[in-house]
Amino acid sequence: MLSIVATPIGNLGDITFRAVAVLREADFIIAENPLHTAKLLKHFEIPKKELVQFADHNEHKALPKILDRLEQEHGALVSDAGTPGISDPGFRLVRACVEKGIQIQNVPGTSAIITALAGAGLPTDRFLFVGFLPKTEPKLLQALESGLQTESTLVIYESPQRISKTVDIITKTYPSAQLVVARELTKLHEEFIRGGAVEVSTLLKKRSSIKGEIVLLVSFK
Ligand code: SAM
Repeated sequence: MLSIVATPIGNLGDITFRAVAVLREADFIIAENPLHTAKLLKHFEIPKKELVQFADHNEHKALPKILDRLEQEHGALVSDAGTPGISDPGFRLVRACVEKGIQIQNVPGTSAIITALAGAGLPTDRFLFVGFLPKTEPKLLQALESGLQTESTLVIYESPQRISKTVDIITKTYPSAQLVVARELTKLHEEFIRGGAVEVSTLLKKRSSIKGEIVLLVSFK
């Protein structure tokens, strides 16, 4: 059996009772980054158990072995943060389990997408999650256009190194868009930078650096 177990995106208090119970019960844990997950297990005093890596660089080699084990054993899938399978290789494991008829148990919890959207103050009735944006400007603009066409709030994973450039591109093309930069969610330095595109772009330029993990939201309404 595979359990898909969400873990906190920053604040360890956000783990669920069920997540801890399932991590205790599992025979082994499938982790994007075993070192990172080992720290989480230690914090919650979960007895040490085998951690099997399933990451971008080893997924093809690791997948058949993990699937064989899941036929007999209980494996818990976790990602570095939040809900596994969202913009990480975990989804390929879930897809393979579905194809093989392996039982799947879902243990929901936090996700940066929903946490950002809930606190942004932008329309939530319709939203489009686009993950990490393409690097080239024409493809990036295409992704933005899909938000405009579908009248959806766009939810984007962005890196601190690229955020200013991305906001500048959006501001150039859609100066009347409303933006929210949701940074370090659930952590000590959580911050929501909200405003019109021009205003947010100006605010970011005033900072010497922008650090931490970021979700960028764009509304065209
Ligand atoms: N599985 C995760 C989830 O449930 O949202 C996200 C994994 S994704 C590979 C990692 C990206 O999520 C980061 O680059 C960042 O854009 C976003 N993210 C993760 N934690 C965050 C946080 N505490 N604050 C803001 N964004 C976060």
